Amino acid sequence: MEVIPRMTLRILLLTFPQNPFNPFRAYPQARTRSFQPQTHPLSSLIIKRHQRSSARVRAGWLSGLVQTKPDFPDITKAGDPVLHEPAQEVRPEDILSERIQKIVDDMIKVMRKAPGVGLAAPQIGVPLRIIVLEDTKEFIGYVPKEEIKAQDRRPFDLLVIINPKLEMKGNKTALFFEGCLSVDGFRAVVERSLNVKVNGLDRDGKPVEVDASGWQARILQHECDHLDGTLYVDKMVQRSFRTVENLDLPLPNGFPKLGVRNASKS
Ligand SMILES: [Zn+2]
Repeated sequence: MEVIPRMTLRILLLTFPQNPFNPFRAYPQARTRSFQPQTHPLSSLIIKRHQRSSARVRAGWLSGLVQTKPDFPDITKAGDPVLHEPAQEVRPEDILSERIQKIVDDMIKVMRKAPGVGLAAPQIGVPLRIIVLEDTKEFIGYVPKEEIKAQDRRPFDLLVIINPKLEMKGNKTALFFEGCLSVDGFRAVVERSLNVKVNGLDRDGKPVEVDASGWQARILQHECDHLDGTLYVDKMVQRSFRTVENLDLPLPNGFPKLGVRNASKS
């Protein structure tokens, strides 16, 4: 889940255009690099000796060889079927396998690099029921104090939950804007339960239970929705969808007030 606060976003965009906190920054991808052979120092040499098409392939291959930065999976974007279909359970006996551990490691890296406060496996193209989430003092420090209080947002350590089962607790809900790394550049208001309980397995295959409230509960609901093929735009409050740049503009007339509500619609 993408939750760069409105003020921070503008400050960072203005001050640090290459800053990793810039959510508009393109993700480094091997695929992208292979289409930029002219940037490699050897590419001009190769182009002299080969037909243009084969030179592109060759130079791309060489670029790959000299690439030393770690590669991260792409973040899948809205429209990719993996984001719109239910993900499958992970077999408990597979959790300690190299494959699943690598997926978890990749998810953590991608979430932190984006940066986001949560990520579901379908967001790196893996149709499995795995979520990771983490909120840090640093992220929260960028948010205005009144917003932190209203959202009941507190830092929490990294959580990896495999095959999470989400349970809503109580009937209190809250309306707030949220965003998603798979729908970047936009925000919309979503009504979420204020309190939830999630049961699942951690990356060692041990049972994990999380009682969450406030913003952490929202992140958990957002990420668990991903596992059911649901994006926040599928359940947003209508007429609230907007670009990040327009986040501070007033809500339309008659729109419900943001914040905690006592009666649940569901
Ligand atoms: Zn998301």
